[in-house]
Amino acid sequence: MRSIQHWIDGAPVGGSTAAPLHDPATGRPSGEVLLGRRAEVDAAVAAAARAFGTWSEVSLTRRARIMFALRDLLERHEDELARLITAEHGKVLDDARGEVVRGREVVEFACGIPQALKGEYSDHVSSGVDAFSFRQPLGVCAGVVPFNFPVMVPLWMHPIAIACGNTFVLKPSERVPSASNLIAELYAEAGLPEGVYNVLHGDRETADALITHPGVAAVSFVGSTPVARHVHEAAGAAGKRVQALGGAKNHAVVLPDADLDLAADQITAAAYGSAGQRCMAVSVAVAVGPAADPLIERLADRARAITVGPGTDPASDMGPVISAAARDRVTGHVTAAERAGAKVVVDGRDLPGPGFFVGPCLLDGASTDMAAYREEIFGPVLLVLRAATLDEAIDLINANPYGNGTAIFTASGAAARRFQRAVHVGMIGVNVPIPVPMAFYSFGGWKASLFGDTHVHGPEGVRFYTRAKAVTSRWPTPTTPADTSLMAFPTSN
Ligand code: NAD
Repeated sequence: MRSIQHWIDGAPVGGSTAAPLHDPATGRPSGEVLLGRRAEVDAAVAAAARAFGTWSEVSLTRRARIMFALRDLLERHEDELARLITAEHGKVLDDARGEVVRGREVVEFACGIPQALKGEYSDHVSSGVDAFSFRQPLGVCAGVVPFNFPVMVPLWMHPIAIACGNTFVLKPSERVPSASNLIAELYAEAGLPEGVYNVLHGDRETADALITHPGVAAVSFVGSTPVARHVHEAAGAAGKRVQALGGAKNHAVVLPDADLDLAADQITAAAYGSAGQRCMAVSVAVAVGPAADPLIERLADRARAITVGPGTDPASDMGPVISAAARDRVTGHVTAAERAGAKVVVDGRDLPGPGFFVGPCLLDGASTDMAAYREEIFGPVLLVLRAATLDEAIDLINANPYGNGTAIFTASGAAARRFQRAVHVGMIGVNVPIPVPMAFYSFGGWKASLFGDTHVHGPEGVRFYTRAKAVTSRWPTPTTPADTSLMAFPTSN
């Protein structure tokens, strides 16, 4: 039986507690993953703390070169990483390759870390005095990540943290652990010293021990909103710098002037891609005015045409969901919404097992008080709501507790501009359904989709993983006049 071990201080490390792994496409056990307990958490943090002493002294140029080497290795191992993702997560291989590419783009940003870390310098702020600022790494940074992007979401964090001079302990999701170990091997091949990147496998107990560990300086979390809120509070109370990204309920607004075929194609891909298990999945389409009926007809045609099957089968458009419990939660939401009066236009509830399959579900006539609207379903379910005007659609989005992503489909620049300025959401697409920012921007939502004040990767990632120093400096010469007002608060002269 395959057993996934920790990676600490440059080598695999065993342990005594483990949890089973499943292949979501067959429902069968596929191995086990170790669950780190106090001893392994201490060992991982201690290794990262030891490595910080030397890694933070490695020059910017050398750190960047290691990122260049990692970038090439990620490209060479793209297929291998995608296969590991599909085997444990279930998403189709093309989708898995896509997440490896988007993750690699963060490494490409990290290759430019010397540029991103440039400080400021003001010459002669007072007579003979210069002022400058620069940023320094924090120490040991921890990352706790969800199951739905086994490669991309961790890559949002550790390349930036490490390029900034920190060391890292990653706790992957216990449901998709393998890719993080392959990345440890790639880092080693790229020349990263031992102990700089460590993988601590485990569950919530492991996560809690890590995020409150006295040796950890900063915590990055991505996952569901209740856990994000808990991590923000627990890590914050333990004195850590913390950013915690949570769940989502992403709306796509379709105005009557939109190209409805384009909108239906894009919303279908965003609702059902990866079986709806993306934090940027569109789970609500808001049809404005007369857009509703023709949009639903187009969405239904496209949802019925989706082929559901194992992620390894090139004929599949959509794979299984992650677990039997997830499948039952998703179908339960559809059934509850139907009982509450929604119409199930496309019904994916009765797909045969033994894998954890749910087909695309399209619901018309849902209302905002239904659990299927209020809660994040995280499965292939798209609700269509109707609004009379763009303003009504904006109010609907702003009343929702989540604020991760949203999109508008329209031919009107004025409507798009009004929308992008008025919605209380962190990431907005205009005729683009999954507006995941490029790696040189930062990724993050508003409201219950993010706790903390910095988004991940890009410039905000660099700020999160560093702290500023401001230096005021004077180099007196024998001719510098004596300061006659030493006891007064210093002002410029
Ligand atoms: P999850 O919250 O169940 O788990 C996330 C991580 O937290 C895992 O590593 C898990 O082991 C750990 N964990 C679980 N319970 C914990 C607890 N009580 N205390 C400490 N740690 C705990 O999320 P998931 O099911 O793995 O992933 C899906 C969720 O992630 C969805 O809600 C999705 O929207 C969200 N997500 C958000 C983003 C974003 O950028 N905002 C990106 C991807 C996924």
